[in-house]
Amino acid sequence: MSVDRVPGSRETSRLVLASGNRGKLREFDAMLRPLGFDLVAQSELGVPEAPEPHHTFVENALAKARHAAAVTGLPALADDSGICVRALGGMPGVRSARYAALAGGEHSDAANNARLLADLAGCDDRHASYVCVLVLVRHALDPMPLISEAVWHGEVIQTARGSGGFGYDPFFWLPDEGCTAAELAPERKNQISHRGLALRQLVDRLRSQEGRWSPEAK
Ligand code: IMP
Repeated sequence: MSVDRVPGSRETSRLVLASGNRGKLREFDAMLRPLGFDLVAQSELGVPEAPEPHHTFVENALAKARHAAAVTGLPALADDSGICVRALGGMPGVRSARYAALAGGEHSDAANNARLLADLAGCDDRHASYVCVLVLVRHALDPMPLISEAVWHGEVIQTARGSGGFGYDPFFWLPDEGCTAAELAPERKNQISHRGLALRQLVDRLRSQEGRWSPEAK
């Protein structure tokens, strides 16, 4: 098997993505399809969203991956990610998707961004990091999940720029790129983002496992 293919016994590995987030699905699909993964969103298989009650990204990602694998019987990939803002002591962190809703607002990107800007009003320290933890399980009770983690540093700006990406991207300024994450071409975002970096680490780990990581191997 070529190293460009997924290590395992099948030419194409079907994998359920334990997320209903369309932005994430788009990014993962673009990165995993060329590697021989056939990614299917859990919503297409009727999997309800798993609760995310934990305080760390890794615990939530593991819970989501096990849940999707248990319901579908397929290997599962979960991403738990969010934005951690230094001046807010790391908030919203694992609560990024529900940040506004937790304060009685809407469950939407626009409302989350509005709350973030309000929380940072008058604050000079704008440093923020996107964090992504990925967990891949072969089956629900997999005792050896593959786990990777990456961080992407930037700053929260006052005014939205760009229409690409999703979530907090229009406000996530990248000094080295001279633009926000929402102004990056999708391929560039996948190259340098927290999700892109975490995924490349995960794939490297898969490759180094040659044959040991396969959906059939328990
Ligand atoms: P999760 O589904 O609980 O992992 O929530 C992740 C949330 O973090 C998303 O709904 C976004 O609000 C935010 N987030 C994570 N990654 C990104 C990104 O690449 N761009 C923008 N927002 C992101």
